[in-house]
Amino acid sequence: MPPILEISGLTAGYGPLEVLYAVDLPIEQGRITAILGPNGAGKTTTLKVAAGLVPARRGSVKLRGEELLGSAPRSIARRGLCLIPEGRGIFPSLSVRENLKLQSKMPRAGSLKEVEEIAYARFPRLGQRRKQIAGTMSGGEQQMLALSRALTTAPDVLMIDEISMGLAPNLVEELFGVVTDLARAGGTIVLVEQLAEYTLELADHVAVMAKGRVAAFGEPDDVRDLLTDLYLGRVDGAEAAAG
Ligand code: ATP
Repeated sequence: MPPILEISGLTAGYGPLEVLYAVDLPIEQGRITAILGPNGAGKTTTLKVAAGLVPARRGSVKLRGEELLGSAPRSIARRGLCLIPEGRGIFPSLSVRENLKLQSKMPRAGSLKEVEEIAYARFPRLGQRRKQIAGTMSGGEQQMLALSRALTTAPDVLMIDEISMGLAPNLVEELFGVVTDLARAGGTIVLVEQLAEYTLELADHVAVMAKGRVAAFGEPDDVRDLLTDLYLGRVDGAEAAAG
């Protein structure tokens, strides 16, 4: 089966700065693909370009064979590619319910009632806190809200940028458990993560990025040694990116 999401030859940057150099990533349906690598490797930028938030300079991003580059973020979301950005993308000054109400206006989402049902069934804790101002909840609860907002549009591909950021290990485990359930149910997940060891346990495929390039792509065991070398500084990003 061809990849559901195919990123090829993706080149992008910010002003004069080139950040991605011909990135290729085949994302298979129903699998968890992780993008790991040192700080500044271009992981977040890759997700942002795919979601239409940063323009590409060259290359393509195809969802089920259909080109997404050049489309607005809203149109990309409508076609089924959803990004939970680093920092969660929720409205911190609104209550949980108000956040879900805004979500119900998004393309592909159902009514507020349906959105609330999905969110509270997946995360009962959110149901208990429906009137609480989102920004006053714990980091983990805010991440649950971000995840449940994404789930209400039943995205074909869900990209999550650092779901684990700043969370206690038990919460990371709970959220990773939800991600694993989604993939088991046929969902396609792309995870950008800092927690390499954890992520290698749940990912089906891993792309190791360094210096704006994909230095390696394979199953977790294929890339484990390279990742360790990169994180320990035994190889530098430029060497890894050059293969
Ligand atoms: P991290 O793990 O630290 O989040 P990353 O692999 O996700 O890193 P990116 O956030 O994609 O890397 O950043 C890649 C490069 O692009 C970095 O050198 C970063 O400083 C630069 N960069 C990112 N966003 C911008 C921006 N808005 N303007 C200018 N440069 C940026």
